[in-house]
Amino acid sequence: MARYIDASCRLCRREGQKLFLKGERCYSPKCAIEKRNYAPGQHGQNNRKKVSEYGLQLREKQKAKRFYGILETQFRNYFDKAAKKKGITGENLLIMLETRLDNAVFRMGFASSRKEARQLVRHGHFTVNGHKENIPSFAVKAGDAIKVKEKSASSPKFKEIKDMSISVPSWITVDVEKLEGKVVSLPRREDIDTPVAEHLIVELYSK
Ligand code: SF4
Repeated sequence: MARYIDASCRLCRREGQKLFLKGERCYSPKCAIEKRNYAPGQHGQNNRKKVSEYGLQLREKQKAKRFYGILETQFRNYFDKAAKKKGITGENLLIMLETRLDNAVFRMGFASSRKEARQLVRHGHFTVNGHKENIPSFAVKAGDAIKVKEKSASSPKFKEIKDMSISVPSWITVDVEKLEGKVVSLPRREDIDTPVAEHLIVELYSK
């Protein structure tokens, strides 16, 4: 019998690991990876083919795209910009992805998933340094203050955040009472827990 399998969870199952795309559910026993940690589809459980080098590189790129919720063209643009910057291309790429406004909002605990963060940003619930900013890909910089708009702060969504204890990575700080976060510094690779081997993405795009 056909069974509805959530699209986001299928992405995790395809990558064989949690990508945390669905908020609270990802931390519960309902997580599809906890229940069915094999690739989706008819042959998912039997697919034990040896993966080629190209296949590994491709999977790593797909995983990074899915983790940050970015489509191919935009991801490629990030890579091209990362390659032009000084330093290690893979690390530059991850830092650029990590400093997207939607990701910063998620990391600050103002949204339960990157998808929700993107939606909240698009709907204009945040200011950056006092100015309304509704572009999810907006790149935050060291010193930027990200705040829930005064008008939005009274909504149930943000009211409940005030009662939560939020743990944030070292490159940001959060004042839950004020519903405000600050980018203390740009993240370094060791501050980013994204489960991606970025050198494989560099190898893929360098062919
Ligand atoms: Fe679904 Fe989240 Fe589990 Fe991924 S981590 S399978 S999105 S519940």
